[in-house]
Amino acid sequence: MNRPGKIVCVGRNYAAHAKELGNDVPDKPLLFLKPPSAVIADGDTIILPPDSNQVEHEAEIGIVIGKRLRNVSESEAIAGIAGITCVNDVTARDLQKADGQWTRAKGFDTFCPMGPRVVPLPAKYGDIEVMARVNGKERQHAKASEMVFGLVYLVSYISRIMTLEPGDLIATGTPDGVGPLAPGDTVEIEVSGVGVLKNPVR
Ligand code: ZN
Repeated sequence: MNRPGKIVCVGRNYAAHAKELGNDVPDKPLLFLKPPSAVIADGDTIILPPDSNQVEHEAEIGIVIGKRLRNVSESEAIAGIAGITCVNDVTARDLQKADGQWTRAKGFDTFCPMGPRVVPLPAKYGDIEVMARVNGKERQHAKASEMVFGLVYLVSYISRIMTLEPGDLIATGTPDGVGPLAPGDTVEIEVSGVGVLKNPVR
């Protein structure tokens, strides 16, 4: 899988997750960027940085862009999606709270596992399920239909702000159940129809 040119992420896109962190659901998609240098593949190791005492997993459905998209409608957006994949938006929660913006908390090397493959967006994309397991125990499980802003709407919305290029990745937000990662853990993100993204933690 090629490294994306940019990674656009959506915060607080599931009501139950916004609530577990004490936040309201935004009335417009809350966007932030992760650096492409954070990307690792299936099987690679997530490195916990010494700067943080609270690194957490975030299971997300990733959208990989297939065509240049600028200011597109939702139907044009569907035609421009290469497919979906698994993303782990690894987050240093303590630094996220301390900094007030999220570049450091979300930007460490190895903080964006993605893969193991890209599959076409299914027609009934609201039925896509996303799950996280740590050491085989389920921590997160939700359906895309629970999102505040849907997958295709997000592509159209983002394309009105910045041109999306082939290979760009959109991480569409995480459901409730986020939790800490410790050295020696193995974290799995599963998206139905895609497979399992599995990474050890050290
Ligand atoms: Zn996230």
